[in-house]
Amino acid sequence: MDSEQVKDLARDLGADLVGIASAKTLNAFPPDPQWPQTPEKILKTCKSVIVVVQHIPVAAFRAKQNIPVQYLDMLVLRRMDRIAYKLADTLERRGYPSFVTAAQETDWHMKSASYGYLSTRHLGIEAGLGTFGLEVNILTPEFGPRVYLTGILTELELEADAPMTEQVCIGESCSRCLYSCPTDAVEHFGINKRNCAVEAQEFGFMTATNYFRDFCDGNKDKKKSDLKSRDVFGFWQGLLRVVGSFGDCPRCLAVCPVGNDYHAFLAGPQKIIPEKTSEKMAKAKSFKEARKNGESIAGLDDWNIRWVGSDGYQGIVARQMQEFKKAQKDKEREREGK
Ligand code: SF4
Ligand code: SF4
Repeated sequence: MDSEQVKDLARDLGADLVGIASAKTLNAFPPDPQWPQTPEKILKTCKSVIVVVQHIPVAAFRAKQNIPVQYLDMLVLRRMDRIAYKLADTLERRGYPSFVTAAQETDWHMKSASYGYLSTRHLGIEAGLGTFGLEVNILTPEFGPRVYLTGILTELELEADAPMTEQVCIGESCSRCLYSCPTDAVEHFGINKRNCAVEAQEFGFMTATNYFRDFCDGNKDKKKSDLKSRDVFGFWQGLLRVVGSFGDCPRCLAVCPVGNDYHAFLAGPQKIIPEKTSEKMAKAKSFKEARKNGESIAGLDDWNIRWVGSDGYQGIVARQMQEFKKAQKDKEREREGK
């Protein structure tokens, strides 16, 4: 099978986007060389990684609450895993050993925060599907950051896609993700994971371990009342529906103006960012100045620029919006029979 046949198969199975990264490149460019997340650490004979993307339905980001996005996240992840599983299974039946990566796992031998065996964001970028945003989510031109990704490790040698060199993120002059972040976790093409986890993993691992440590230290009466606390309900709900364990905060995804889904359905409801403060505006301004003055910025250094887009921002979102508006007008004319 060649790359195009594999991609057609993925699309037929329901993948929204699909790209291919070479295992050799991924082994040569781990996101953090000190703690390498590489295919060779999982499978020495891996030749290619097929990256499958599912978008999160945009309607949920129009809702007043976070719950619709949290629920859809789980459904999207399940669907994506099913598509990837079927794709890997088909490849194996045709004689090419292949399996889906454990996308939401943490390797405790590496960093103490959540840090998987492979970074799916980096897989997507190496497979030519997008580039990093200011908040280091992958931004796909089609759906911005409103996506989930997974990778299939295969021993089949496939032609890899070329990574994008044009920066998809508008960058410092946009900074809408920074303005929207309730815990001010967005850095200069970086993220403060601990701050983000406060909102994005309300009932995540750290909350659970802190809760059980306090529970063990408590007296009999405290234990009795703790068992009926909101935290316990949160953990229960997390076990049932993943809600609260990760991806709990949709704010930086909802406000990002990349993608036709944003132009069509979010530009109106997400135009105003209520979380925007003068402090956050000053922070964005300092990022802009730092980049303009060529200051040293960790997220944009010689190693990391690869995933941000070495050619810088060249107006992809403006071009996309113009094309989108033109297509809308053409449709209107068609409807009116002109
Ligand atoms: S909101 Fe703006 S700055 Fe943030 S990732 Fe999206 S395009 Fe980039
Ligand atoms: S997920 Fe929420 S808390 Fe985390 S960076 Fe985005 S807006 Fe901030």
